[in-house]
Amino acid sequence: MHDENCIFCKIATGEIPVEAVYENENVIAFDDMEPLMPVHTLLIPKGHYSDIGDNVPEDVLGKLFGAVRKVAEAKGLTERGYRILINTGDDASQSVRHLHVHILGGGHMPRPNDQDWGSSATNADKFYD
Ligand code: AMP
Repeated sequence: MHDENCIFCKIATGEIPVEAVYENENVIAFDDMEPLMPVHTLLIPKGHYSDIGDNVPEDVLGKLFGAVRKVAEAKGLTERGYRILINTGDDASQSVRHLHVHILGGGHMPRPNDQDWGSSATNADKFYD
């Protein structure tokens, strides 16, 4: 599974070189080019799936999530903790349509409570207008 127009597929094949934080035959992790935290690494399956809902086989999911700990270890996050995040689709503002796990850490991250969500919190009781 490969999409020649997909930037993360190009990273997975090496067409776009990155410094791998962690890599095996199934996944590759590399630092986000616009980090939101002191540690902000992206972990992707090498096969192309547009998002977590794209009929991703369970073995692929297992290999992807199994690698999270490897990335956390490589980045020194295991003691203090970290957050993983998977944006999916338009409402989540997913910008790259190749499944990826954000691994964030290196500092305290508040829980996403109403205060942190700012004006979006006013929509918490509405599904859609
Ligand atoms: P999302 O909005 O969840 O789709 O996240 C996509 C992420 O990919 C963003 O945080 C971007 O900064 C990051 N990104 C896009 N292109 C690259 C790239 N070539 N190398 C590293 N990070 C990238």
